[in-house]
Amino acid sequence: MTDIDAIIIGAGVIGLATARELAMRGHSVVILESEKEFGSVTSSRNSEVIHAGLYYPPGSLKARLCVEGKERLYAFCQSHGVAHRRCGKLIVATSHEETAMLATLREKGKANGCNDLELIDERQAVLLEPALTCVAALTSPSTGIIDSHGYMLALFGDAQDHGAAMAVNAPFERAEVAGDGFRIHVGGAEPTSLTCRLLINSAGLVAPMVARKIEGLPEDGIPQARFAKGSYFSLAGKSPFSRLIYPAPHTHGLGVHLTLDLAGQARFGPDVEWVDAIDYAVDPQRMEGFDDAIRRYWPRLPDHALIPAYSGIRPKISGPDEPAMDFRIDGPETHGVNGLVNLFGIESPGLTASLAIANEVAARLEA
Ligand SMILES: Cc1cc2nc3c(=O)[nH]c(=O)nc-3n(C[C@H](O)[C@H](O)[C@H](O)COP(=O)(O)OP(=O)(O)OC[C@H]3O[C@@H](n4cnc5c(N)ncnc54)[C@H](O)[C@@H]3O)c2cc1C
Repeated sequence: MTDIDAIIIGAGVIGLATARELAMRGHSVVILESEKEFGSVTSSRNSEVIHAGLYYPPGSLKARLCVEGKERLYAFCQSHGVAHRRCGKLIVATSHEETAMLATLREKGKANGCNDLELIDERQAVLLEPALTCVAALTSPSTGIIDSHGYMLALFGDAQDHGAAMAVNAPFERAEVAGDGFRIHVGGAEPTSLTCRLLINSAGLVAPMVARKIEGLPEDGIPQARFAKGSYFSLAGKSPFSRLIYPAPHTHGLGVHLTLDLAGQARFGPDVEWVDAIDYAVDPQRMEGFDDAIRRYWPRLPDHALIPAYSGIRPKISGPDEPAMDFRIDGPETHGVNGLVNLFGIESPGLTASLAIANEVAARLEA
């Protein structure tokens, strides 16, 4: 007999969605969060885009959980009154080589279940977005934007309604396998220990470091944490675009794109900067790279219109010269420890996929 059924390490969007899912399935749940509030790390440092699911290799977890998660997320926003808008996006080609990339992307999207993508020519693109310069574009009508904080509040509300509790300023320190479950040691001002049957490591950027503190978990399966920072610059003044505008994608990010918040304010980013430590300061020098990237699809970007905004760090599990990795949802079938799920590399589209990831975690624990 353990104190609680499930302990979740980390109250980002993934930990909160998983707490909700497990609580709704009848488990008693406690979420441990080392910060003073939930959702203050990567889950509040992103583009707040509901992705369609077209970028990811067919058959990958990213592809499947993004497409499934998007549908679940739109339904959740409707039923829970979470602010969102299905504004659509254009992925733009500014050269003929890039047009070929868009055609490939459309096929990839179709293979992932995004059947609403349409390749349009320059004239059609400019009719939709008159400020745009491009040779062709791919339209993605199911892409949208969301108030991520409102979403996390609603997740936590549901979890609480089903009996889940959260401890903030409560860092997980280590765990050992004890009988049929785990003994968890919690630090902070009032250190304590608790036993649980199910343990979910959703610590985001530091999930690999947390995994190394679980006694009995084979070290060789734990990936190395890599950090790829992305900085954003906001646009002073009114946005000339009503849809999200993305360039053709590259290996470690989706390119410097334009996203809108729910108030219609435009921001550009995130770029990609590999870093060794977590530091969210935005270096104004990086603006130069932004100017060039944006002017390829919006040459009339006014001078001095970009203002340093904020940054986020992608929780990578592969380095700059390695192929991008899929999400890793490592359950007992992967590492051999009953009752444990480690979530590694939950970068974009983690926000979009969160409800589907939570369902997947629960399924692996109940298998
Ligand atoms: C720049 C950027 C842009 C992105 N844009 C999008 C987007 O537009 N759409 C989309 O779908 N996805 C996007 N993502 C991805 C999305 O933000 C993430 O997938 C998601 O937020 C990950 O949530 P998480 O809960 O795993 O991690 P986090 O939000 O980082 O949560 C982990 C939590 O664990 C806590 N923690 C850490 N260590 C401990 C410990 N020892 N004890 C207790 N708690 C601990 C942390 O304090 C934190 O609160 C983006 C990501 C980045 C970086």
